[in-house]
Amino acid sequence: MATPSDLSSRPRQRLVRLPALPPAETNYHRIRKRIHLICVLIFVALPFFNLMRFDIPKQRFFFAGFELWINEFGIIFFSLMFLMFLIAASAIMHGRVYCSYACPQMIFSEWSLAVERWTARLVTRKVPAWPAARRQTAARLLFLGILGVASVFLAFVFTAYFVEPRDLLGRLLRLDVLTAGGITGAVVTLLTFLDFTVLRQRFCTTICPYGYLQGMLQDRHTLLVTYQDGKQDERVCIECTKCVRVCHMDIDIRDSPFQIECVHCGECIDACEDVLRRVGRPGLIHYTWGETPPAAGAAREPWYLRLGFRDSKRVMIAVILLFYLVGLGVALSMRRPVLVRVAPDRTVLYTVEEDGRVVNRIRMTLANRSAEPVTVTLWVENLPGAEIAFQPNPAPLAPGQEISETFDLRVPPWPGAPDVNRFRLLAQPSNEKTPDVFDLTFILPVEKKGQSQ
Ligand code: SF4
Ligand code: SF4
Repeated sequence: MATPSDLSSRPRQRLVRLPALPPAETNYHRIRKRIHLICVLIFVALPFFNLMRFDIPKQRFFFAGFELWINEFGIIFFSLMFLMFLIAASAIMHGRVYCSYACPQMIFSEWSLAVERWTARLVTRKVPAWPAARRQTAARLLFLGILGVASVFLAFVFTAYFVEPRDLLGRLLRLDVLTAGGITGAVVTLLTFLDFTVLRQRFCTTICPYGYLQGMLQDRHTLLVTYQDGKQDERVCIECTKCVRVCHMDIDIRDSPFQIECVHCGECIDACEDVLRRVGRPGLIHYTWGETPPAAGAAREPWYLRLGFRDSKRVMIAVILLFYLVGLGVALSMRRPVLVRVAPDRTVLYTVEEDGRVVNRIRMTLANRSAEPVTVTLWVENLPGAEIAFQPNPAPLAPGQEISETFDLRVPPWPGAPDVNRFRLLAQPSNEKTPDVFDLTFILPVEKKGQSQ
């Protein structure tokens, strides 16, 4: 972290003033703020439109509009692996760009700092005659009030990732702080409030594991923010320290591009460009792939290099990402909204009823994983005279309902029937075109062979 003594100890440089250069083409602050807005919209939309949400009470994982059950291992595996590899790939290729451009913690920490500055300016403008201490208290109270309301909203959105939003809203409107859900909501609100009033970016350097992970993942081609200046007499830096003052992480990028606090936001790049272009020189801080800057006057790199595909390791990462994405797509396309599971219950091989019919028992689970009510119709093929004692048939299933039952399958023995009879049980959900087909066996007693009813 840069201290005032560090800053003053650097030699000041006298530069010959040249005609001012036009402003830099890229303003990272502006780009970042636009991306922040998009990220906030995504952050809010994901749980409300079931694009990504773990519903803990219902034990469901909502992904891309699909309601996945906790036992749908394949899809959950592919989606979690894809997300995990995406984060790792981003860390390897683009360093901590995720932290500064897309992480909600950074977005709302910066927003809270901006609100704090805005409330101070507002109070000074509205009541300039008040003593400074009174203005400060008023500004602080206004800031805390705004943060209080914002914390309720942010905690609500965050909790909606784990609890059904309508249920959550009901609890909020009832000011429920007595049930487990209500207490969780209240605690999350308090933590959010403390986070954005006290902790802010300190979270990134003390608590967040991603920053520590980044140190292990980066290599010689990872995107960095680097300071490049000449040696001693050729130094261009005018020691204005603007790059240090704009840094929310309180560091001096001139010390090293590998400081764990640096989140690669690019604010120091804008600051340096702004200062040095006024004296006719381009800025000294840049985004670079690794520590080496591109040679002066070098041709524009091809698109894949500009995206960060700079060696075979990165191509492999992209292939693995693609593999998980394709796996996820295939698993989702094969998913059936109604789950039907059937297995024979062989606790007793068969029983014989008074009227001579033979009974085998079948275990069945029906689960409606869709958002609409459905019915499931059962029938049997290749088993003459079979009667399914499952009521009602068709079986109605509400959204999210699961039924597990054991039922009788009755068959009158017929002449020449073998001991083991292969047959098919079919289950047709009303919202699907083709039935689920199960190949099963029906056991007849040896002594009943050849007898007619
Ligand atoms: S040193 Fe520059 S890039 Fe790094 S966090 Fe500070 S302002 Fe952002
Ligand atoms: S903004 Fe640029 S010129 Fe000013 S101190 Fe930082 S690196 Fe030097």
